Amino acid sequence: MKVPFLDLKRQYDAIKKEMDEAVFSVLFNTKFILGPEVKSFEEKVAAYCATKYAIGVASGTDALLLSLRVCEVKPGDEVITTSFSFFASAGVISRLGATPVFVDIDADTYNIDPAQVEKKISPKTKAIMPVHLFGQCADMDPIIDVAKRHNLKVVEDAAQSIGAKYKGEKAGAIGDFGCFSFFPSKNLGGAGDGGMVVTDDPEMAEMIRILRVHGSKPKYYHSIIGYNSRLDTLQAAILAVKLKHLDDWSKKRRKHAEAYNSAFKDLDIITPKEESYSYHIYNQYTIAVKKRDELRKHLKQKEIGHDSYYPVPLHLQECYKFLGYNKGDLPVSEKRAEEVVSIPVYPELTQQEQEYVISTIKEFVTG
Ligand SMILES: *Cc1c(COP(=O)(O)O)cnc(C)c1O
Repeated sequence: MKVPFLDLKRQYDAIKKEMDEAVFSVLFNTKFILGPEVKSFEEKVAAYCATKYAIGVASGTDALLLSLRVCEVKPGDEVITTSFSFFASAGVISRLGATPVFVDIDADTYNIDPAQVEKKISPKTKAIMPVHLFGQCADMDPIIDVAKRHNLKVVEDAAQSIGAKYKGEKAGAIGDFGCFSFFPSKNLGGAGDGGMVVTDDPEMAEMIRILRVHGSKPKYYHSIIGYNSRLDTLQAAILAVKLKHLDDWSKKRRKHAEAYNSAFKDLDIITPKEESYSYHIYNQYTIAVKKRDELRKHLKQKEIGHDSYYPVPLHLQECYKFLGYNKGDLPVSEKRAEEVVSIPVYPELTQQEQEYVISTIKEFVTG
């Protein structure tokens, strides 16, 4: 049996009529840039997250970049983040001329270890960027507490976690800014790139709105230098349709995760831990195993889609050699980078497919 890692065609087939209508309506009205669908989708995301404002931007990366700009992150500054994430989390810090300062992760959740944040704070620190990896929020209370005591901003990289909750609050609504990505493989994915910033602060929201249109207000008058970073009207129309289904999809992902958890529980496999503070939405279902590369070979041979997020921790990326980190500096990230493999968990995965994935992995681990 062939089991794809992700199959967006199944999702499209299930909501084709609504999706096609939304797309054709934008084509018909031709308001392609910041059309009414953008504003309406922003209002829906703000309501969904219970934040006052939501601003659509061109990507999750830009959501982070613009948020850090509003925090006035500049050359010479430092931003504290996790060593175990997609590259964009660190890349945006560097693109502003600042330095990412990497903190090791908690071995159970793959998220930044809050206990290690405070000792990385220096007079140059401007902000903390926790990443809610794989669909589970980082432990935010101690991070917010440290940030308050040191007068730092908190930018949540919630690219993988729209709909996840921390102590009942939605991911993205906890820090000063929440940043979402609508990259197609995220739980709420567009037909291309897109992103969103949520915040409760009216001035910061306005700054993001100005930055996404080249820093102009009014049009053609530039008090600051901004970007071309708008959420396309077409994407907003598509995403508004999908948002209605998001909670249902998250529930299905959680059911798949539960089935994997119970199937793997007595085996030599580390399964994801859902913390008591957390409502996990499983953008990825990631296991850790000792013979990871052999398992990947086995899965490939059995035609089961999978990937390893992430094989190289950020502090050991070649482009960050100049920062001077060495192997062994952030041991938990380094260990997990050699052990992780993510397996299919999308809502449309069938029971038969999941059983095949489970038996294939069991056979490898026990065989
Ligand atoms: C996907 C992702 C991003 C970047 O989002 P894009 O929309 O692809 O720019 C940033 N951080 C994390 C953790 C991500 O998973």
